[in-house]
Amino acid sequence: YRGWSEVRQNLCAVKSRISQAAVSAERNPSDVKLIAISKTQKPNLIAEAISNGHRLFGENRVQESEDKWPPILEANDDVVVHLVGPLQTNKVKRAVQLFHTIQTLDRRKLARALAREFDSQGVQVDCFIQINIGEEPQKTGVLPEAADSFITECRGDLLLPIVGLMCIPPANDQTGLHFGLLSEIAARNGLSNISMGMSADFEIAIRFGATHVRLGTAIFGARPPLTLGPE
Ligand SMILES: *Cc1c(COP(=O)(O)O)cnc(C)c1O
Repeated sequence: YRGWSEVRQNLCAVKSRISQAAVSAERNPSDVKLIAISKTQKPNLIAEAISNGHRLFGENRVQESEDKWPPILEANDDVVVHLVGPLQTNKVKRAVQLFHTIQTLDRRKLARALAREFDSQGVQVDCFIQINIGEEPQKTGVLPEAADSFITECRGDLLLPIVGLMCIPPANDQTGLHFGLLSEIAARNGLSNISMGMSADFEIAIRFGATHVRLGTAIFGARPPLTLGPE
């Protein structure tokens, strides 16, 4: 690794850990996609990841992404950015213009706003439904017991392109149980994409069926503080 940048070393190391975790779970490593979560990171670090062949990124704020991503996307037309943070309905229009996938569809009001926006822009952006898998009051997301009917409503009534489920499990020792539950909900609803697992727990997530792991600090190191105000 001598002479390699930190981001390059980290990307290489996490990709090999992802492959190992997939192989030990008797899964195909190419079925697990690595999303580099670049929130609060400067464009030069994103450029570093791109120049090392990485193409899939995630951000958690619309406003920050609006400042950061348009020039990068203009210069790299195969780069893809997912929204992995909460989306307010007044930012739906800009989110639909900017992101390739929205992973945080978490309520009926947002589902309706997205359906309207897709109609008016004449586009479809793939959506993951965010499940509040640990039923935590401080977290957003659809409760597990409401998941089946919400998925049905989004697909059937609103005709939204629902491609998978996403969760952020509680920080406790039940991570595997929560990941397993998300996989079950996805399977019984015929959804093949499962976004779960972050820097601290992605190997467990892969064991329980994650198809998208979202890694920030494991790739870019510690995050600089956010300089924007709250959305
Ligand atoms: C920040 C963030 C991540 C990445 O977290 P790390 O612990 O830095 O890997 C993953 N998912 C979401 C939704 C996030 O907001």
